[in-house]
Amino acid sequence: MFSLSWKLQAVKFYIKITSMKKWVLLFWVLCFLTSKVSAFELILPKSKKVDTTSGYAFFLGKASNSEGILINNIRVYTAPNGAFAHSVKLNDGENRIIVRSSYNTQIYRVYKKPAPHKEEVAVCEFETPKSGVITKDNIPVFSTPSFSDKKRLAHLFKDTKVTVIASKGDFYKLFLSKDEFGWVPKAGLEFYCSPQKEPPVFLNMNNTRYKNASVHTISFTENLPYAIEERENEIIFKVYNPQLSDTSVYTMNIPKPDKYTYQVSLKNGTYTFKVSELPKRIEECTIVIDAGHGGDEKGAVGALGDEEKDINLKIALELQAILKQKGANVVMTRECDGNISLDDRISIARSSNANIFISIHLNSIGNAPMNIRKNRGTSIYYYNDNAKDLAEILENSITKSAKTRKDRVRKGNYGVIRPADYAGVLVEAAYMTNPLDSMLYSSPDFAYNTAKGIADGILEFIAE
Ligand SMILES: [Zn+2]
Repeated sequence: MFSLSWKLQAVKFYIKITSMKKWVLLFWVLCFLTSKVSAFELILPKSKKVDTTSGYAFFLGKASNSEGILINNIRVYTAPNGAFAHSVKLNDGENRIIVRSSYNTQIYRVYKKPAPHKEEVAVCEFETPKSGVITKDNIPVFSTPSFSDKKRLAHLFKDTKVTVIASKGDFYKLFLSKDEFGWVPKAGLEFYCSPQKEPPVFLNMNNTRYKNASVHTISFTENLPYAIEERENEIIFKVYNPQLSDTSVYTMNIPKPDKYTYQVSLKNGTYTFKVSELPKRIEECTIVIDAGHGGDEKGAVGALGDEEKDINLKIALELQAILKQKGANVVMTRECDGNISLDDRISIARSSNANIFISIHLNSIGNAPMNIRKNRGTSIYYYNDNAKDLAEILENSITKSAKTRKDRVRKGNYGVIRPADYAGVLVEAAYMTNPLDSMLYSSPDFAYNTAKGIADGILEFIAE
């Protein structure tokens, strides 16, 4: 009897042990599975084998809070939402970069190619000046033969007659007057050799003052090149007649209102230059809101996989609601996730007679050294002087409302804010690539708070 009960106890104990083993096994399987789920994921670089000419490789990803991220043995900060970012300086040739956590290791091979050798092209001076004609509207005249040149003297209209004296690389050099030259892209100009007619001549000049605008016209027998120069208290509109003589510059000095926009048009040799004062009441203002990117163009991508185009649109729609409620006439360049070109965005603004143009974006740091405490916050770009005050006001109002850091206000050479037909700014609300900013822009209030900051800034600018 005793021995039977002992045997029974032993069997029960065995069963208990084996079922415990099952539980232990199950525990390890669960641990393994959860470790797979919580292991870090990298958004950037997009591939484990990358060829680049850049000096840095940028790593952007998401980790769980318990796994420490090490990139080439350097501990990388992970924000409470799991976002992390880091840039690694590259050596020439192959760089082996190891991203490691307590759960996972991934190896990246980034090959730094030598930068393409740029051969310095010499200026080729023409023996005699050639006559040329501008073949498209909006052809930029740069102060140097470079597309990255921020100084543009003007944007010439189609059928403008020009005098070309040299070429360099992709550019022709225009003779404007004795001391003034400009460079236009070769793609926007054609030479012509029709028999020499009489040189173009000046016909007349006219100024008309209206309540909130002034219109200035200047006429010649042909379309001639022009330039605009802004001084502290005046705008100088110049037309050159290079075929006549060295000193044939016609200028109109126009008083500059406190807050202004201007438009230029050219028809049959007559320039019309209109300088308008900005409305002082929001109800009289037309504001174009431009949600950056859209459709196939995602913009920047964040550590959590968010796409810039979506956040831009959310902010834009919130801003639309606030400004409409304040009584402004609001025009959107897009109201859904669709493709829209930069030219179309400008056309929408011009055709709706926009007074103010707000392009909404989020920033990113590409292949550059990344400092998460520094490369963060709100930056505002303006191109023309007429939007500088607005940019400065917005930097204060947005950072106050959205709780972002002040990054910078500066001149930015972006196509959508180049026309002076409106006071145009490009807002970079926060950095998609900054883990600390990702805590802000992924919060549910961010779009409204940013929009509120923009609206407050616009109201302050108008009332100023
Ligand atoms: Zn953008």
